[in-house]
Amino acid sequence: MFQKCGFADASGELEGADYVVIGLPFDSTTSFRSGSRDGPNAIRLASLNFESYERDCDVDLADLNICDLGNMELGSDPAYAWETIKEGIALLPKSAVPVFLGGEHSISPPIVSGLVQKRQCDLSVLVLDAHMDLREEYGCTRFSHACTSRRILEIEGARSYVSIGIRSCSKEEHSFAAENGACLFTSREVREMGIDSVLDAALESLSCEQLYISLDLDALDPAYAPAVGNPEPFGLTPWDVKRVIERLATRAVGFDISELTPAYDRGETALMAA
Ligand code: MN
Ligand code: MN
Repeated sequence: MFQKCGFADASGELEGADYVVIGLPFDSTTSFRSGSRDGPNAIRLASLNFESYERDCDVDLADLNICDLGNMELGSDPAYAWETIKEGIALLPKSAVPVFLGGEHSISPPIVSGLVQKRQCDLSVLVLDAHMDLREEYGCTRFSHACTSRRILEIEGARSYVSIGIRSCSKEEHSFAAENGACLFTSREVREMGIDSVLDAALESLSCEQLYISLDLDALDPAYAPAVGNPEPFGLTPWDVKRVIERLATRAVGFDISELTPAYDRGETALMAA
């Protein structure tokens, strides 16, 4: 009679869970539209719209053991949030695949760092993003959402890195990417080559079998996902992103989805995220 408003069909217990859903309502370093701290609950609410049966994969979510742990209390200090996220990951069962709902994109580096430590193995990292996020510092902090990929590249154990969907960067980020041989694919390349050819090329760089996938929702075109912190036109289609997930999800040991700003949404971005 009474329903907890977690992610739809995530009614399993933590012990023995196949997947764990964790909300990370942190948005202290946002630079344009704020409010992604409300993202996790907006995604959960939108998830109630969908059937538990996923026709394309012939999987019923109700048959899986998915546990929604709720949201972490992360405060407003980025350094505190970073440490708290890592502490939280250490408490998760090793066999479960964690799915993190942001929050701004700055949640991803501590997740990758925490997973590398927890699993004691190297990870490949695939980021879907309109932005390079390769700044050394932004808004007086190295923990900014604009520094996400730069921080990931610094993590020992984040062995290989690819980003897809790029169409925005500073001149300094462009130089940094070129000098350091960062493996980046623009949204134009996806449009011209097709997502499968881009993925074939990306897979040559994603050398570790175990993969972490980070989806900054602004990778999608604002026509499909308008309610994000820093919308950028000329983006990926939902079909591109779906294809990435279909081809790589079996290798994923963790996944995050970030930058949903519900105050700017009429519901469509939250539905896409869910
Ligand atoms: Mn980002
Ligand atoms: Mn972005």
